[in-house]
Amino acid sequence: MYDLRSDVLAPLAPAVLQALAAAAQRQPGFGRHEDEEERRLVREAADLCGFEDGLFVPTGTLANQIALRLWCAPGEAVLAERESHVAVNEVAATAALNGVVVRPVEGRRGHLAPAMVEAALAIRSGSASERRTRLVWLENTHNRAGGTVMPAGWLDGIAAICRGRGLHLHVDGARIWHAAVAAGTAPAEAVRGASSVMVGLNKILGAPVGALLLASRDAIDEAARIQKMFGGLWRPVGPLAAAARVALAGYRPRAKAAHEAAAVFAARLAAELGNAVCDPVPDTNIVMLDFGGEAAVDALLTRLSDQPVRVAPYRNGRVRCVLHAGLSPRDARDAAELICRAAPDAPDQACGDGP
Ligand SMILES: *Cc1c(COP(=O)(O)O)cnc(C)c1O
Repeated sequence: MYDLRSDVLAPLAPAVLQALAAAAQRQPGFGRHEDEEERRLVREAADLCGFEDGLFVPTGTLANQIALRLWCAPGEAVLAERESHVAVNEVAATAALNGVVVRPVEGRRGHLAPAMVEAALAIRSGSASERRTRLVWLENTHNRAGGTVMPAGWLDGIAAICRGRGLHLHVDGARIWHAAVAAGTAPAEAVRGASSVMVGLNKILGAPVGALLLASRDAIDEAARIQKMFGGLWRPVGPLAAAARVALAGYRPRAKAAHEAAAVFAARLAAELGNAVCDPVPDTNIVMLDFGGEAAVDALLTRLSDQPVRVAPYRNGRVRCVLHAGLSPRDARDAAELICRAAPDAPDQACGDGP
């Protein structure tokens, strides 16, 4: 079965499983400062990304929501790309848990250019009833736009704008590893100047579960309180942290392999389906298909239902295919072949701009 619905579906690497089992036989530490594996995981990830400290939490969504609580008070606003995960995929937790409103801005291939942020922040009514924007939010790679990488220089430009205006900057880095590998940079460069970053561990990295919030030591001490308040404290986490450390150490080859598989997959589909493939040369490991309408997507899913391949339907006639690290180029070719056979005709129009 080629399950392309998410990168969390990658099988755990044998070394990850071994680390999990070995750590499970050791006496766990009590709390985040005591557990050796947890401390090491946090240290290694913080060093890799250039931050002082970090917090290991069960999900990326929780790490994002803790960051919102850190930087915004209820009634304040966060500026975010309109199709970002925080804007559309977190069950309105921004409002429900934090009382924060999202100011959506349309990006280019999912990314906000410095000028777009500047323009959005410049809009002021001058009235005392104006909402107060506290935080700028970036997502790299951008999921719904198709695993796209933020163009070089944009992060530094936006970080400078935030510094100038006294705003915080958060990076949703569920797939920051892809962004760094695709751009040929260190992860620290892909998050430079941010106040905080969420990095995913369970997607491409293949840790069993979890994410990290990275920030300054003071911010992380406060974040630990918020984690507990949201009911997100988990323990003991030694075995999970041990497994995550092995996964983290192998981010580069895993991301590279997934990008190669995605390139093979997209090229095969583009040869057959043309316009339906949004990026015939994908930035990373996500390939978006656009069939121009929901009916065509329903037809595709029906025809695939008895085939050994699964894809995820998105809004507006789109389908997301994620090439996770468990798939070889050969698997990618086979999966593409099955989709080609089941696919409706390509639409006349090239992919729409928005995801
Ligand atoms: C998956 C994802 C998240 C949330 O991670 P979970 O661990 O599933 O809560 C946040 N942001 C982006 C961009 C993601 O792709």
